[in-house]
Amino acid sequence: MSERDENIDEDLEALGIKFGIGKKHHQKDEPNLDVNSVVRQMKQKKYDPYDPIAWEAKDFSKDMIADYKPFNFVDGEGVRCSLYVSGCLFACPECYNLAAQNFRYGQPYTKELEDQIIKDLEHSYVDGLTLLGGEPFLNTNVSLRIVKRIRKEFGAKKTIWSWSGYTWEELQQGTSDKKELLSLIDILVDGRFVKEKKDLTLQFRGSSNQKIIDVKKSFEEGKIHIWDRLVK
Ligand code: SF4
Repeated sequence: MSERDENIDEDLEALGIKFGIGKKHHQKDEPNLDVNSVVRQMKQKKYDPYDPIAWEAKDFSKDMIADYKPFNFVDGEGVRCSLYVSGCLFACPECYNLAAQNFRYGQPYTKELEDQIIKDLEHSYVDGLTLLGGEPFLNTNVSLRIVKRIRKEFGAKKTIWSWSGYTWEELQQGTSDKKELLSLIDILVDGRFVKEKKDLTLQFRGSSNQKIIDVKKSFEEGKIHIWDRLVK
């Protein structure tokens, strides 16, 4: 452990937080934080590290993009354009995109990139946009901006999928920006990646706790409606 890591551990101990770099104790129903990226903000804002519902994009997001991949077949149904936002606080062990946990990773989201995404979506063979991360619901400045523009320019003709470390239930109790984003997407793949439940045979999910949720039907029915085309 480096001197810097030891200092961060001391900071966390002072805050009464019981985990450290490289140890990452994972308690039931509690997020495992990327302490490097959040310790300063926690000190300043007195965030409860075990209350992800209270975390707000405005305090963490730097409006950065880890990647943009147009015309792929793996991030949801059909041909999709995928936007990977930077920054996630869940720090799941064996996260598929470790670098994108950092809110400063990658490049700034720009009007030029947004215009390119819209142009790519104009192709009739493209089904829609997928938001991944990082955590789209902790980068709502970016996520809402692109999603609102898609709804303005394409209405419901293009589908919007989003992955999230938040569960459906957590998002129902979330801040208004999280709720607004949820209301504008079609499909939510919810929940943290849990390595003990890892199953690479599942459609569009890494672990069996995660669900593929039809957002509109779920709101209409007042309960979770699993995606109708789920095979496994
Ligand atoms: S929620 Fe997703 S992006 Fe965030 S740490 Fe977990 S696997 Fe990685």
